[in-house]
Amino acid sequence: MWQRIELDGCGVWQVSHWQGYDWLIHSMTEAAWGNLALHVGDDVDAVLRRRERLSRALGAASCSWVLGEQIHGARCRKVDISDAGSGEAEQHSALAGLDGLFTQDRQLLLGALFADCVPLLYVVPNHRIVGIAHAGWRGTAATMASSVVRSMGETLGINPKEIEVGIGPSIGSCCYPVGTDTASHFSADVLSERDGRVHLDLVLANTIQLLESGVRETAIYPAGVCTSCNRSFFSYRRDGSKAGRMAALVLRR
Ligand SMILES: [Zn+2]
Repeated sequence: MWQRIELDGCGVWQVSHWQGYDWLIHSMTEAAWGNLALHVGDDVDAVLRRRERLSRALGAASCSWVLGEQIHGARCRKVDISDAGSGEAEQHSALAGLDGLFTQDRQLLLGALFADCVPLLYVVPNHRIVGIAHAGWRGTAATMASSVVRSMGETLGINPKEIEVGIGPSIGSCCYPVGTDTASHFSADVLSERDGRVHLDLVLANTIQLLESGVRETAIYPAGVCTSCNRSFFSYRRDGSKAGRMAALVLRR
């Protein structure tokens, strides 16, 4: 379950179960924080001011952001203190080709930016590892969610049974009709037909992927909130190319 709280007068969403982890900071912003992405033609200084305000509100003012390029792929890797500041102040320094990041290092605010795509937040309480990934339909089809689980296993020896995953607010199947080309990448159990159109359930697709990777069902926390239905969020499907981007962030204190 996720919960909406207010920080500095604006809404953020958090996994309720994780609010008890005193070593962890995490949140997904609502649109009231403004656009937080540097790649959508917004004024750079305004975006950087919003990011600073958010860092302060989270209690992470002294921490460095680390962002991936987000190319709708499924590549991820472990990042460390040498990656601090990647993508923080300019888009070109975002980590090339990555849609997923995880770390065991402190003080790194791992972030990703969203307008409908699925935010995947990873936490490994036993080892105080945090991770983040961005999964739109292409990333989901490319198995982004399980790529992080596999990579945590390969590089840090993490058992999938130790991993908890929050699936943040993202487009619901209610608002996500897709063409036959997109649908062809998915199995029938995540597709449904409404009003003569095929709808895709990206949250379910990611949940199934995580279960197949060995993550426990009770350790998967979907928000159950649709970014297109709920006007508190930016939505690319609803608002088109003028949509801003919201941030999901995780940090090991
Ligand atoms: Zn909806």
